[in-house]
This record gives sequence, structure tokens and C-alpha cells, in this order.
Amino acid sequence: MDTYYNYSHVSQQGLPDFCFLEKVDEVEVLNNLQLRFQKEHIYTYIGDQVVSVNPFQKKPGIYSAETLKSYQNMYIYEVSPHIYALAQDTYKKLLLSKESQCVIISGESGSGKTEASKIFLEYISKVSTISSGGQTNTRPEIIMKHIIESNIVLEAFGNAKTLKNDNSSRFGKFIELEFDGAGVPISGKIQQFLLEKSRVHTRAIGERSFHIFYQFLTCKKITQKYGMSEDPAQYRYLKESLCYTAGPNINDQRDFKLVEQALESLKWTEENLDSLWRMLSAILLIGNIEFQADAEKVNVDAVQIQNPEVLKKVASLLHCNSLVLEKALISRSLTTGAGKRQSSIKVLLNPTQARETRDSFAKVLYDRLFSFVVEKINETIGNGIDQKQIESIIGILDIYGFEVYDQNNSFEQFIINYANEKLQQLFINLVLRQEQEEYIKEGIEWKNIDNYFDNQPIIDLIEGQPVGLLRLLDEACIVGQSGTPENLIQKFNQFFSKHKHYESYESTNNLAIDATSFMLKHYAGSVTYNLNEFIHKNKDPLYQDLINTLESSSDRLLLKIFQKDFQKNQVKKIPTTAGFQFKLAINALVGRLNACQPHYIRCIKSNDEKKAGYFDYERVKHQIRYLNTVETVRVRKAGFANKQHYSRFFNRYKLLSPATFPTWTLSAREGVMEIVKHCKIEQPNQPQECHFGKKKLFIKSAKTLFKFEELRAVELPR
Ligand code: ADP
Ligand code: MG
Repeated sequence: MDTYYNYSHVSQQGLPDFCFLEKVDEVEVLNNLQLRFQKEHIYTYIGDQVVSVNPFQKKPGIYSAETLKSYQNMYIYEVSPHIYALAQDTYKKLLLSKESQCVIISGESGSGKTEASKIFLEYISKVSTISSGGQTNTRPEIIMKHIIESNIVLEAFGNAKTLKNDNSSRFGKFIELEFDGAGVPISGKIQQFLLEKSRVHTRAIGERSFHIFYQFLTCKKITQKYGMSEDPAQYRYLKESLCYTAGPNINDQRDFKLVEQALESLKWTEENLDSLWRMLSAILLIGNIEFQADAEKVNVDAVQIQNPEVLKKVASLLHCNSLVLEKALISRSLTTGAGKRQSSIKVLLNPTQARETRDSFAKVLYDRLFSFVVEKINETIGNGIDQKQIESIIGILDIYGFEVYDQNNSFEQFIINYANEKLQQLFINLVLRQEQEEYIKEGIEWKNIDNYFDNQPIIDLIEGQPVGLLRLLDEACIVGQSGTPENLIQKFNQFFSKHKHYESYESTNNLAIDATSFMLKHYAGSVTYNLNEFIHKNKDPLYQDLINTLESSSDRLLLKIFQKDFQKNQVKKIPTTAGFQFKLAINALVGRLNACQPHYIRCIKSNDEKKAGYFDYERVKHQIRYLNTVETVRVRKAGFANKQHYSRFFNRYKLLSPATFPTWTLSAREGVMEIVKHCKIEQPNQPQECHFGKKKLFIKSAKTLFKFEELRAVELPR
């Protein structure tokens, strides 16, 4: 094992920690990463962070039960770089400090974040339930089992094959594992962020809709029960992107069995399951509803339903009235006037509007269904717990990664990339900025490292007040008439044409940027967004006529998921837009993460072709650059592995010196100095290991911290 202590022996295998590099620059970092990758070491440390390079192939044994066991109770630098080591470190810190921890997993789409989150979760699940003495079905075991099963369900409903990843997460996910004072998991919570719901009806050629659609069609029992064709090609919503299988590693039939088992284990009732499969069937059939010009209405561009039998089938699956549904799809009620003068008129929809209404309907049904699935999971994993018992949490953040397509990046990519900017900023703030500021504040001698790329200006451009892209987009959504893509792009250009991260078609000779496009230079690369659908997707309208239709349903699940929308006469608020809601959610999340001790997994995609074992030097170099990897290594290498308030350190280690234990009358700072001196930590002719700040002790290497721990372990039984 390439341990911290004998790392020179493993240099032919690549250094296990970038901080061991004599010279830290881009070439050295890249060469080390490449060498390790070639030697089948996909993980490398930067101090206590883990860099992971996706190998696109299963390495035998690296996640076996024996490997997992070999990490138990070990310190991070005693063991080969692994997510298990990081998970062990996280859990150990939770036990020692009782403070909440989180792991922030970042990287672009297909770099291995979701896999990493599962490996992390698996480790925590194993070690935190060990105290149940191998017994199964104890509460902690059940909780962890349920959380792992929830992942199976969420991936089925929220992941899809994209051009970048056969199992791409199309929603953001924050899993909180909740522990009692003894570090035993007692409950959990899952928060989801903005599902890419438009995928239900539209996506790029070669991509799929959410896995669950293809999965449930493989189940004869269900297709027969609801009279559905098993052939995905019979459904427009699945057919149009010309892709029905998700690559060699995904087997829909096998995965569906796992989903069914998980749902059963999560205690879904027969009634809910029936509603679930019925609604999925209905969504697929909604896509098959066709419109044709209504020949009887000569002077207006009205439509009628071309295949009423499909409409009837949808209505019967949703347990609602087919006449009401038909009206809601071909016409719309508009309210005019206010107060007593308020009245409602019906306008007929033209073919484009009717199709758009139909797709909105499918989309909102799926989105609500997804929220319901998450809500149900939370009921199960948070069940019966007194909140007061929860002492600390471990949060696992796995969101959709940065993504850019050659064509047609839309509102979804904008939101996904905005979320990634926020996470990158959090990393910069905590790892690069605050860390260094603290050294200076504490009076530690420090040479500033500030040549990293700071993405704050891009975040300000997106979410800034009073003018930022999101704010201008929101305005375009309320002003009604002026809210066209052409007007909006003019506004954008007016405010930002000089911004160094923004480019418009006026300011560029880049042919990809046309009159309704703009380009943002994100931290991870430039993306040209097509603005055409932004306003509509941001408004995310929910048509009242469709709501009324659903209110007539007798299906309890359906009534529940739209319950809030049925409440009439509510004071009309300014409708909140999708972008605005996302901004609130992501900022709240950043706040939550800030309140935890962070741990980082930085995922790197080895190549774009998903080719096993292939290291594309240029692609990796690009990622190393925008992840600020070299600067991170420099700060980590010159910085400190550990820092602690004097009082905390003193209380833990005072028993190491007879001068400080059992009695000590001077300050904690002086006590700590005494302990350090007594333990003979500082050796002549060696770099100083312990630095004394104003309020905290800074320890250079993890090895020294372990030494204190080892000495303490010797003293403890006495
Ligand atoms: P992300 O969540 O970053 O978009 P995923 O975690 O879904 O990416 O990984 C994409 C694919 O890459 C996986 O489906 C799997 O095939 C492969 N992969 C990711 N991590 C590993 C790993 N540690 N070992 C082997 N293959 C992996
Ligand atoms: Mg993912």
C-alpha cells in the first residue's frame, strides 16, 4: 500500500498525493495524474481532498468488502487514495467533533460524481452501522438500506441517457444522513433541485427520456394491465429522439426489477403503485394526442383532436372527465377585468398553442410525480424521529455537472451551469480564499497565492442585483408584450456587452451566436445559449383549465400532488419563476454547506468518448485548469493539514504532559505550547511542524496530528 510514510517506493506508480511533488506546476500535476491513471490508480490526494479520474471501466477489487475493511479506522494518509479514505475521514471527524460534515462532489457531466456519491454512501453505511454487531434489521441498518434504495428509485426517475453520459443525473440531489450523539444514523432527508422536466417531451437526437419510461414498458404485467404497447417506438415522446437503449451498462428490464423491489421495500402501497404506473402510462399517451384544424370554425385558427380514442384513454388513466380534458387542451379561459367586473372568456388555441399546452401538461404531471416520489422517500427515511435526537449530519451533494452542447444550449443548461458556478465559488472561497485569509489573520507567516481563476464576476453577471441575467429574464416574464427573445437579448446586450464574460452577436464574429443567442464564458468553458425558449421555460406556466381538469379526477395521488393548485381565491401573488426559485434554493444550499465541515471529491472525465482506460491529455488539462488544481496543490502544500482552537486542542491532549494534567492555570495557548514541547514534535533541522496563531494551533502535516492521537491513545487507559 502506498502510504504516506514510504511514498518514495511508489513513485514509479505516481505520487499518491500531489502535495508530495517537489515542483508544483501544470505539467508535473498532469504527468503525475496520467502516470497514476496508467497504473490503474484512479484516485490521488491533494492533502485531504480526493481527485478522481473516471476510468470508464470496472477495476476488479477496488470496491470489494476486503478493500472497504482495510480503510476502517485508518487515517487518510496512512492508506492509498480512495473515496473510502475520504469517507472514513469524514465519519471520524463527525465522531470526534460532533460537527456536521459534508462532501461536495464536483466535475463536469460524466466525470463520475454520481458513482462517487454512491461509493461514499456505501462506506458510511457500512462503518456507521457496525455497532449493530452484524445484526440486520436494526434501525440504523434499515435507514441506510432505505437511503441506498432511494437512490435506485431516484436514478430511475431522474436520470437519463445524454450524449455525455449514459446515466446522466437530470436533477440536483443533496442527501443528508442524520446521526445521533453516538454517530449512529437514525434518519435521513433528500432534497432535490430542479428536475430537467422538459426532457419528458423534447431532447436532442440520440438521447433518451428518463430511464423509468423504458423500464416500465419492459414489464408485461404493467403494460397489459393498463393496455399499453410495450414498444417504445409507439410513443411520440420516446420516438422523436431516435434512441431507445442507453448503452452497454444499462439494462432496463433488470433495473426495473430493482426499482420495483426498492419501492416495495420503501413501503409503497398498492394504491400508490397503481397510480404511479397509470400516470406514467398517461404521460406517454398524452404525447400521442394529435391536433388537426377544426374545419367547422372557418374564421379562426382553431383545432380539434384528431385521435379522440387516445384522449379518452388518457382521461380514463387519469380518472378524469374526457370532455373537460379535451376542452382544456384546445381552448383556454382568460380572466379579464378585476373585482366585481372580473369575467372569464374562452379563447380557442391554434395548433402551436395546443401542442404546447399538451406538452406542458405531460411535463407538469411528471415533475409533480417526481416531487411526490422524493416526498414519499423522505417520509420513510425520516419517519418517527424526534428531531432533538439528531446531533449532526453528513451531507452528500451530487448535482448535474457542467454541460455544453454543440447546438441548442437552452434554459436547462443555463441553470445547470449556474449551479456549477456556485459550487466552484464555494470551493474557491473555502479552499483558496478563506484558508489563506485565516493564516494572515492569525499572524502566521504566509506568502499569498492569488493567481487562481475567480469566477465571482460570472456569478454576479448571472444573479446580480439590480441587473443580472436572471433578473432581466424575470422582468421579461412579467411585462407580457415586451417579453420576446428579441427584446430580451437587446436588454442583455445593452447591459452586458462590455462584460468580459459575456458576448453577443453584435460584439462577436462567432457565427454560432445568432440574433437570439448570447455566449457566457463560464469557469469551465464558453457556452452559447439560445434564448428562444428561455422566457417560456422560466415562466413555466401552469394552465388553470388543466388544473380544473385534474380537480375532477378521482385519483387520490393525483389530487394530492396538485392539492395546492386547487386552492381557489388565493391572493394572486406575482408568480415566481423557475429561475428565481432555483436561485433561492441554490443559495440556501450554499448556506447549509457553509455550516458544515467540507470534504471534496474533484471528478475528472478522462475522455469524451467514454472509452475505457483512455487518458485524453488535452481534455484533462482543460479540467485541471478550470478546477484550479495547481493552485489548490500550492495552497495545500504550503499550508496546514490541520488547525484547531487552542482550547479544543488543549482539552483533548492535555493529558500528554504532566505539566498540563491534571492541573494547568495558565492560558490554553501556553498549555498547547507546553504539550508540543513535551511531546518533542519539533525536531532540529526540520521544517517547523506547529505554528502558533493568535487563537489557533496550525499543524503542518497530518502525520503530526496522528502522532498526537497515537500518544493520546497510549495515555488513555490510565
Ligand atoms: P456524473 O454523475 O459526473 O455525470 P457518473 O457518476 O454518472 O457521472 O459516471 C458516468 C459513467 O462513468 C458511469 O455510468 C460509469 O459507467 C462510469 N464511471 C464513473 N465512475 C466510475 C468508477 N469509479 N469506476 C468505473 N466507472 C466509472
Ligand atoms: Mg450524475
